[in-house]
Amino acid sequence: MTKAMTKAQIQIFFERLREQRPHPKTELNYESPFQLLIAVLLSAQATDVSVNKATRQLFIDAPDAKSIYALGVERLKTYIKTIGLYNSKAENVIKTCQILLEKFDGQVPDQRKDLEALPGVGRKTANVVLNTAFGQPTMAVDTHIFRVGNRTGLAKGKDVLEVEQRLLKVIPKEFILDAHHWLILHGRYCCTARKPKCGECVVADVCNWKERFDYGAEIPLLPDRD
Ligand code: SF4
Repeated sequence: MTKAMTKAQIQIFFERLREQRPHPKTELNYESPFQLLIAVLLSAQATDVSVNKATRQLFIDAPDAKSIYALGVERLKTYIKTIGLYNSKAENVIKTCQILLEKFDGQVPDQRKDLEALPGVGRKTANVVLNTAFGQPTMAVDTHIFRVGNRTGLAKGKDVLEVEQRLLKVIPKEFILDAHHWLILHGRYCCTARKPKCGECVVADVCNWKERFDYGAEIPLLPDRD
């Protein structure tokens, strides 16, 4: 079983990820909290690349809640039909726009309970919006973060909520705002589900996953003995 990382290991882990990507960002394209919310909503079980492809024209033609609501479900579908689950996503987006217009003057609320009350918006989406659009120290645990947390010993938990709470507890304050993006990008490009790239990983020496040596991590030299 993977051992939990120590405080010192966690400090080094995030220092290295910060060095590697000093200004991490979401890979979804957006120009306002509203567009971020819609992009995240569309990204469930879809890649960021496919969402960006669809929103490129959508956000030109309909950049805000009022104009997307005016499109209606059927016309919205023509923009997003290349994204998985587009039928239900189109309905959720239009209902979300309607609520934003009726209750929040077309703006995105910055309170978790208001966000989670929107159709198609769960805890993970709310966490992304609160963190990325409003700079709140939340942790949206997706499949990448769940895997990295458990595999490395950074934050172990049997479900996403447990990992989320553990991460919020163990991550030093100085890293908390960007930690979400660092972990996602690390999981997406290095600590991948299959064949993790431990041989080129910048945190291999503080990672506790025993199998990392089978995936190319260097075996630490033992101190010389007389
Ligand atoms: S050494 Fe391997 S398992 Fe550990 S964080 Fe790096 S890629 Fe992931």
